[in-house]
Amino acid sequence: AAPLRIGIAGYGNLGRGVAAAVGQNPDMELAGIFTRRSPAEITAPTPAVPVLPWDELLEHRDRVDVLILCGGSKADLPEHGPALAAHFTTVDSFDTHAKIPEYFAAVDASARAGGHTAIISVGWDPGMFSLNRLLGEALLPDGATYTFWGKGLSQGHSDAVRRVPGVAGAVQYTVPSDEAIAAVRSGRRPELTTRQKHTRECYVVLEDGADAAAVEQAIVTMPHYFADYDTTVRFISADELARDHATMPHGGFVIRSGSTGSGSSQVVEYRLDLGSNPEFTASVLVAYARAAARLNAGGQVGAKTVLDVPPGLLSPKSAEELRAELL
Ligand code: NDP
Repeated sequence: AAPLRIGIAGYGNLGRGVAAAVGQNPDMELAGIFTRRSPAEITAPTPAVPVLPWDELLEHRDRVDVLILCGGSKADLPEHGPALAAHFTTVDSFDTHAKIPEYFAAVDASARAGGHTAIISVGWDPGMFSLNRLLGEALLPDGATYTFWGKGLSQGHSDAVRRVPGVAGAVQYTVPSDEAIAAVRSGRRPELTTRQKHTRECYVVLEDGADAAAVEQAIVTMPHYFADYDTTVRFISADELARDHATMPHGGFVIRSGSTGSGSSQVVEYRLDLGSNPEFTASVLVAYARAAARLNAGGQVGAKTVLDVPPGLLSPKSAEELRAELL
């Protein structure tokens, strides 16, 4: 069969991750990268891949089988998702959990009108974690679900620290509590407060003359972001920030702790330990792009989430091969 032609809309961390992930899937090829910046500013992953201006997207409709939307969830996707699903089969990583129903409805209406398929909120959370929460709850109805994040860099919390007066640069890591995880794994089903589940670690570069104690106080008492957590603040140099905190690790755990029949304890765990959050998220997006193309070929139009997609459609193998090898 002809390779699946993937387009990338937006070329940040996720967009670069998608380009790399497509390279690991022989049944796919990159049709083009679309950007709102000047294409001349951007280095293509290989010279054969065209970098094109965003306003030419629609001219390439017939050369792209699946368009992967790699814009930010806050400002980009609410606009790009509905607008582009009218013209392309799409996959995106919209991750504003509270707004997913509203976003789904908007994307669904335009995908249906255009006869396209759009898989939204693909990634790890939402995404693989959602799928594992669903499996846990469906298989073990008598139980409790726990999600822990980290150790990982949180973009939102890092931005919040950078806005504190006197801060020149900063990163924030979310760290799951070892004691809390051990208590959950034991099957005792503890009730855990926010403070008991995660701690927060900030690495901060001060502006010249800034008051370290005042900066620390402003961070640890910040409502919504830090006040409900035990937060540590470490002051480092700009060189240390650049040298030791440039990668984007993340991960976490979804644990379902339940009991069955005679009261037997059943604990199920899904764990991610990610060296690069955007590269893993991109790998998930690319597998779901394959599924999106197949759903569309089968006439299943409209918006979907990971919970609506049969897992066999993610694999490059046929259903027959999967039955022989994996069952
Ligand atoms: P980035 O900020 O790196 O990129 C977002 C967009 O910014 C790009 O598509 C790009 O569009 C634009 N951009 C503007 N200027 C620049 C520049 N100088 N360098 C790079 N990009 C630039 O975000 P990420 O790719 O890290 O993340 C995108 C979204 O993915 C996040 O908002 C998050 O919601 C989601 N996500 C979801 C996860 C999940 O598990 N579901 C996990 C991780 C992320 P253009 O090329 O058009 O300028």
